[in-house]
Amino acid sequence: MQVKGTSFNDRAEASLKAKQELLARAQFVDHALCSVEDGLLLTDPSGMVIFANPRAAQILGLSETALSGGNLFAQLMIAETGVKASGELQSIQRAQEALSQLSAGRVGLERELVIGTAPTRYYTLRLAVVAGPQDKTPLGLVATISEITKQRELQRTQNDVMALVTHEMKTPLTAIQGLSEVLLTFEPDAAKRRELTGAINEAAQRLRRMIDEYLDLTRLEAGAMSPRQAFLRITTFLEQTLLLLDPVAAQRQIRVRRVFPEQLPVVWADADLLARAVTNLIANAIKYSPPHTEITVSAQADDQVLGISVADQGNGIAPEHLVRIFEKFYRIPRVEDADEPGTGLGLALVREIAESHGGRVTVESQLNLGSTFTIWLPLSTVERETHN
Ligand code: ADP
Repeated sequence: MQVKGTSFNDRAEASLKAKQELLARAQFVDHALCSVEDGLLLTDPSGMVIFANPRAAQILGLSETALSGGNLFAQLMIAETGVKASGELQSIQRAQEALSQLSAGRVGLERELVIGTAPTRYYTLRLAVVAGPQDKTPLGLVATISEITKQRELQRTQNDVMALVTHEMKTPLTAIQGLSEVLLTFEPDAAKRRELTGAINEAAQRLRRMIDEYLDLTRLEAGAMSPRQAFLRITTFLEQTLLLLDPVAAQRQIRVRRVFPEQLPVVWADADLLARAVTNLIANAIKYSPPHTEITVSAQADDQVLGISVADQGNGIAPEHLVRIFEKFYRIPRVEDADEPGTGLGLALVREIAESHGGRVTVESQLNLGSTFTIWLPLSTVERETHN
């Protein structure tokens, strides 16, 4: 009897131990899945999420509980486009398509996920099939989402540098090389020499501007250059900036009008950076306006913000280009601007400078009537109380 009892107790103990081990193992696996840096989701064959780790929920902008029970493909669509999938049936169909593709090929499916706009984040989504141990029937899907934003940014920087060197820098460099060769080979007369040297100097300056703008832009974007802010009296600041630009405008028979109200709050800004931004806007207004037109430089403020506007009566910008002009290297392909040297970096730098001050830049434009660019700078309580 005793033998029997002992063996029963032993069996019960062994079974309890096995259960505990199983539980510990399950908990360990659960912890491990929750700790991985990648998003991880498991679905049934219809794509219904049965497990999602916290990282997956974070990437898709949902709670783990909200994710579980939903369809993976519907959730991915919402995360990527902000649009709800048109029907549950469609999402189930997509899951089944993925499942049959994966089962047929026995390899994983991979594609890129782009989520959000400010900031945009990039991910690689990999899908694999969960197959039954014996007959390999598909039991569901396992999806991993790995972030590749850093690699993407690096790739974009490399592409930018390539674009800068291959397209933009080549033109002035070719001019410098060609013109200096003419100088060396043909011994031109004094007048011609002067003309050629002037052209070489202009190309060198253009090259210099391009490198400076690109480096400043990259440093600001990377957060490696922060504005050195101080209180700035906007009217004095704008008058000083215009001192250098009035002659350039006059050369093209363009008048620069100032509209500065008497009472303007001082702003907390980096004078050098803000001067770069305002100069770029005024230089563009001059570049992209015909002679005998007028440019108005004005400032206005309310309780919250101070705006510096540059309005011209120039070529204007069509809506399809308006959405892209702040992109790096973007130049509007149009005949009127063919002779205007430029890098397509100016407005990207203006935007970056405005944003580094916690502000923004806006534009309104009508084709052939003109454009108004405005830099908006936030005012703190101190600035609002300190008036000119
Ligand atoms: P760019 O060096 O070419 O001037 P920007 O980044 O400053 O580069 O401007 C991008 C493009 O936007 C320009 O190439 C030009 O086509 C357009 N643009 C900028 N400012 C104006 C303006 N005031 N009026 C019309 N077009 C403009």
